[in-house]
Amino acid sequence: MSHERPRIAIVGGGLAGLAAAEALADSGASVTVLEARRRAGGRAASFEDPVGGGLVDACQHVAMGCCTNFLDLCRRTGLADAFRRDRTLWFIGPDGRRAACTPSRRWPAPLHLVPLLAGLRHLSFRERWTLASGMVGLAVWRERLPSPRPTALEWLRSVGQPERLIRLFWQPLIESALGESIDLVDVAAARKVVVDGFLAHRQAADLLVPMAPLGTLFGERLVDWLVEHGVAMQTGHFVNAVQRAADGRVLAVAGDGAATPCDALIIAVPWKAAARLAPDVVPPADDRFAGSPITAVHLWFDRACIDLPHAVLVGRVSQWVFRPDEATPGYCQVVISASRGVFEGDRDGLRDVVVEELRAVFPAARRATLVAAKVVTDPTAVLSVRPGVEAVRPRCATTVSNLFLAGDWTATGWPSTMEGAVRSGRLAAAAAASAVGLTGREPVADLPRSLLTGLLVGR
Ligand SMILES: Cc1cc2nc3c(=O)[nH]c(=O)nc-3n(C[C@H](O)[C@H](O)[C@H](O)COP(=O)(O)OP(=O)(O)OC[C@H]3O[C@@H](n4cnc5c(N)ncnc54)[C@H](O)[C@@H]3O)c2cc1C
Repeated sequence: MSHERPRIAIVGGGLAGLAAAEALADSGASVTVLEARRRAGGRAASFEDPVGGGLVDACQHVAMGCCTNFLDLCRRTGLADAFRRDRTLWFIGPDGRRAACTPSRRWPAPLHLVPLLAGLRHLSFRERWTLASGMVGLAVWRERLPSPRPTALEWLRSVGQPERLIRLFWQPLIESALGESIDLVDVAAARKVVVDGFLAHRQAADLLVPMAPLGTLFGERLVDWLVEHGVAMQTGHFVNAVQRAADGRVLAVAGDGAATPCDALIIAVPWKAAARLAPDVVPPADDRFAGSPITAVHLWFDRACIDLPHAVLVGRVSQWVFRPDEATPGYCQVVISASRGVFEGDRDGLRDVVVEELRAVFPAARRATLVAAKVVTDPTAVLSVRPGVEAVRPRCATTVSNLFLAGDWTATGWPSTMEGAVRSGRLAAAAAASAVGLTGREPVADLPRSLLTGLLVGR
């Protein structure tokens, strides 16, 4: 290693790469981020608003109170004020009835969920009771080896959760949290949502909604913070290959052959790109490694239609509707997770159904005229957390001592989310710093589990 500051390069400026850079900013290393696109931020991205000008998010992103590392990153880099904290979850039942579900701030977890469950007015009292017992059953679920892991749907059926309850509660909850359909996701992933996202802590289920475009938050403000803290950001820099030099350093080789030598390197790109960059190090993705699609339907009406900050539309094609920005009142976005095959790709058909569904539940939408619409599907939005996938998600360390992996697809114990990406970046940063004799920041702890939750599911 040279006597100069050790050099650490990060390939990929999505949230994983940016979080790694933040964790290394004060470590004493010289840090460079090499990002292929013009703007950093990766999948947490925005596009130009064709109607109002400015930026619109390609897909609405939300975090939850349990996303401790994502929130810590935002706090440290001055972005925390850009998120709205919605404590009340709004559901709209198939009959159009609205339910405001607010966990208690006074009762200890998991009893804080009693008012939330009581608020689910589209379910009968008996269904809410069955739901509560299903949540407890899932929380105490333990793997029984060697039987293969069931999917969430198989497990819910096996413990007698009724089909109507599955359709009106479990399906929207699990599919929106994990981005994959309930008949495909691993029951252990569903358990994580219920335990960490609901039972663990009174603030776990809070919804954190960005109040500024993701492109501004991550592509500009976070990047500016990193540059101010000494990180070199090179956007428009596509890395073609990662190679090892004879002196043990690692080279990030660009398309034109120019090489960036470094003492340690973090590959923070999606799994297929990672396997292309370093095929001898990154395990080849087998068929357990698949992406799950998410569709965003962007709608611009001539006036404000949505009188709630967000709503879960239960039992409909449209799953969530968000009214992100007060500045463009006629704009709203409908998100459909696990949108594989929805309307067989017929975008106009999907748009028409979504508009019809909004008009059925928001009276103001009936009087509004649709000015513009855009349907955006990311076919590999998130890693599909199917039974078996945990066994193939690689850890950040590789067989090469100064080469590390990050990204929401790596083994963090979290689903493919902003929190998973940030955790992976911090894990890789700590490992890369250690490889060059420095200290990088480790991920912060989860929200502490209450005594009662701890007794139920363990600490
Ligand atoms: C439609 C959609 C909705 C979502 N909703 C949510 C949500 O509500 N909540 C939530 O928590 N998460 C959500 N997610 C998931 C979240 O966006 C991702 O988990 C997270 O952004 C992944 O970050 P990453 O850094 O791991 O990967 P990416 O964001 O994919 O970043 C990888 C980066 O590497 C760059 N790159 C690739 N190849 C190269 C190369 N050869 N050289 C240089 N650079 C390269 C890419 O340009 C990209 O910027 C959603 C994702 C999508 C797509």
